Amino acid sequence: PWSHDAAVRTLFDVLGPAGITARFVGGWVRDAVRGAPLRGEPDLAVDRPPETLMDVLEAARIKVVPTGLKHGTVTAVIAGRPFELTTLRRDVETDGRHAVVAYTDDWLEDASRRDFTFNALYADPDGTLYDPFDGRADLAAAHVRFIGDADQRIAEDRLRILRFFRFHAWYGKPPFDSEGFMACRRNAGGLRGLSGERVRNEFLRLLEAPAPADTVGAMREAAILDHWLPECIGVAKLRALIAREDEPASVRRLASLLSPDADATAIGKRLRLSTQQALRLEVMLAADPVIDVAGGPKAWRAQIYALGGNLYADRLLLATEAPGDWRGALAMARDWTPPELPVSGGDALKLGLKPGPKVGSLIEAVERWWIDGDFAADRAACLAELERRVRAAP
Ligand code: ATP
Repeated sequence: PWSHDAAVRTLFDVLGPAGITARFVGGWVRDAVRGAPLRGEPDLAVDRPPETLMDVLEAARIKVVPTGLKHGTVTAVIAGRPFELTTLRRDVETDGRHAVVAYTDDWLEDASRRDFTFNALYADPDGTLYDPFDGRADLAAAHVRFIGDADQRIAEDRLRILRFFRFHAWYGKPPFDSEGFMACRRNAGGLRGLSGERVRNEFLRLLEAPAPADTVGAMREAAILDHWLPECIGVAKLRALIAREDEPASVRRLASLLSPDADATAIGKRLRLSTQQALRLEVMLAADPVIDVAGGPKAWRAQIYALGGNLYADRLLLATEAPGDWRGALAMARDWTPPELPVSGGDALKLGLKPGPKVGSLIEAVERWWIDGDFAADRAACLAELERRVRAAP
């Protein structure tokens, strides 16, 4: 129950007297029913159109943002916390990729257009549950079950194939619901027509599950990944990665699935990864440098200096066969901030050098010397080394 939550109370104290019924739905309800800690922001379903919600909330001086009017969603902000309010909907028409929806005030109609039984669980703030399809029992049994006929639900929106596996990875346990699994396998070809964004969103969220390897392995065997991720060669490395990673990172987990010669740029484009994600994937897949775990702290520092702590940690965590104290290396990547080279081109000019490529190569030579000395040399020592080199090769 959320009745003790002051922001929730404020929201319901405004909606209730206006004759509006709102119920929690989605992640918050699943987590609460499972007794798991709540993650993310609450989603609510409401039986009035967005315009009415905006009017009522604004009249009560609650900040409300039209975050997704197209989908019937507005966000109320109370005590700095967002509450996403989505008007009940029914599907008018679907083509497997998009749905034309209309508002309704019928809770069962809204429930019927949701995908899995436990995604149609609604709750009042006092904890009363509305469970039209026995989702609670499925959640308790770790069973991901389509609402209605699986083939038909997939035909309405093929993304549901990936959602089936995403929710299985998070809330399911083996075996799969066989009707759902077979329908997903039968319809896997339909994944082709989806947008890269939607596919990426589901797949990365799947990879964030605590232990997604079995699910991904089953998807690969059922040819679910053939179109969107043909570079996936198996889940052995994902298992090894998960056994040692200090924080789950979906893009790193993605990298662990890929064949070593996979084209990170092509994958980044196909899955509409952000520039930063694509770059990270590229660095993780690059052949160089080979991560030298056995080389000890000095070798670790040199590589952390070159790659930065985060990318070094990515590479290290993926280098699951490299011998050596990877825990020590990882701790260093997380804790040690590489220093800055204490000399620069300006210092070379002060020593009488003319601007030009020579300056750069001298500074690089001093940098290599400084790294080789394990970053011990201070500015005075680096200046002396620079001067020595300028004299030696003017
Ligand atoms: P999480 O907490 O992981 O975000 P969620 O359940 O909130 O999980 P969303 O993808 O945000 O996941 O969806 C919110 C709700 O909207 C779902 O619980 C489901 O009822 C419904 N829903 C979302 N996408 C679909 C879809 N493609 N088909 C049917 N129902 C959907």
